[in-house]
Amino acid sequence: MNSSAANLLGVEGQSCEGISFRQFPLFNFITDKIQEALTVPDEKTDVIIYQERHFEVFILPFQTYSGNNLVRLLFKDISNFINLEKELLRRNRELIIINTLSSAFITSENVDVAIEELLKKVLLITDFSSGWLLFRENDSFILKSAAGVSERLKKGVAEGGLTKLCADLIKIRDPLHFLEARDVSQNDVLKQEGFSFLTVVPLIYNNNLLGLLFLASQRKGEKGLDFDAAAVLSLVGNHVSLIIDKIKLFHETERLSITDGLTGLYNTRYFYKQLDVEIARANRYSHSFSLILFDIDNFKFLNDTYGHQAGDDVLHELAGILKAVSRATDIVVRYGGEEFIIILPNTPEQETVNLADRIRMTVEKTHFLANRTAGVTITLSGGIASYPRNAADASSLLYAADSALYAAKAAGKNMIICSKAGT
Ligand code: GH3
Ligand code: MG
Ligand code: MG
Repeated sequence: MNSSAANLLGVEGQSCEGISFRQFPLFNFITDKIQEALTVPDEKTDVIIYQERHFEVFILPFQTYSGNNLVRLLFKDISNFINLEKELLRRNRELIIINTLSSAFITSENVDVAIEELLKKVLLITDFSSGWLLFRENDSFILKSAAGVSERLKKGVAEGGLTKLCADLIKIRDPLHFLEARDVSQNDVLKQEGFSFLTVVPLIYNNNLLGLLFLASQRKGEKGLDFDAAAVLSLVGNHVSLIIDKIKLFHETERLSITDGLTGLYNTRYFYKQLDVEIARANRYSHSFSLILFDIDNFKFLNDTYGHQAGDDVLHELAGILKAVSRATDIVVRYGGEEFIIILPNTPEQETVNLADRIRMTVEKTHFLANRTAGVTITLSGGIASYPRNAADASSLLYAADSALYAAKAAGKNMIICSKAGT
């Protein structure tokens, strides 16, 4: 026995000679294996934990010249390897989690689909049966995506059934919140779902609370989370926050790329794309759709009288009127300087005339209140063209609307004229 073995056994030097090996707790773990090794005889190995250290044990039987069957025992301390292995497994799991979550963002081009995918992957990783994501918008929380929950819960959340709970949770500022059956039963929306256990992960990025991730389980008898599961949840929370921040940024960039800076309406980039979409849709379903092209009358005069800034204010305010009077499905576009175009999907000419006239009359009656314009009034002229009635493709349709607008200007302005093309 060398000195390390003596240390392990807690004896000094040769002082254990003659004592039965069964007296030493260390050997208790391997008594059976030693017996087997001597009986066959054959070499054996084992891994044991002794005094919180891991040992690989080699049991090596041999025979002396005199024919005695003896066994040689080697203990190899492998604690460091075991810790290293655990660490590697942990890192590996982290990488899998990050990779799985990121793929939700990479594989989908649509923001809502990306968020839905993200939630599904979170459930997959964390092994919860139900979950939902609330996004913080201004000072309230909006349900963004839900999986494995009833319509009743979604409705309850949309109606503010979690508002108080959310407010209470974010006040505490814990990185993770656990709600047990008792806590769950105090909330009407949650109680109805029969959740036995709920965890809420605040999604924080750059010190900004982006939202709350709820994960719930209906399994009975579930009590809290162990340290490992909590670590996974906070890792998931960090990465979901990062991905949501990127999704929002992506969404905002996308929105800006199709928005006119002065008015907030769609720009021509979006208009041309949508015009093609509408033509394809109209062809497929044998629908018709229409365009109204508006141009402000004598706008140059307004600019010259009140200044360009005042002109800008009027354009901004007019955009608000166009949005408010048109229908939610209409696409309102700033087409040029003081020209606006509205696409009216699935709308024939007569209905379009009604809307165009309503807009024209609303604008005529409006006193533009921006402080630099002091209640100025303006009028609009408009040209209408319908597909396929007035044109067979996008550019001839635009030409038809433009010609009708020109006719309205020529006939005295402040009026709407329909294209005669192709009729
Ligand atoms: P008409 O009735 O024939 O349309 O007369 P108009 O003065 O409106 O003439 P036109 O449409 O040809 O001129 C457009 C004017 O709109 C010229 C330009 O100074 C002004 N304008 C174009 N874009 C902007 C803008 O972004 N801001 C401001 N303030 N003015 C603009
Ligand atoms: Mg013009
Ligand atoms: Mg004009």
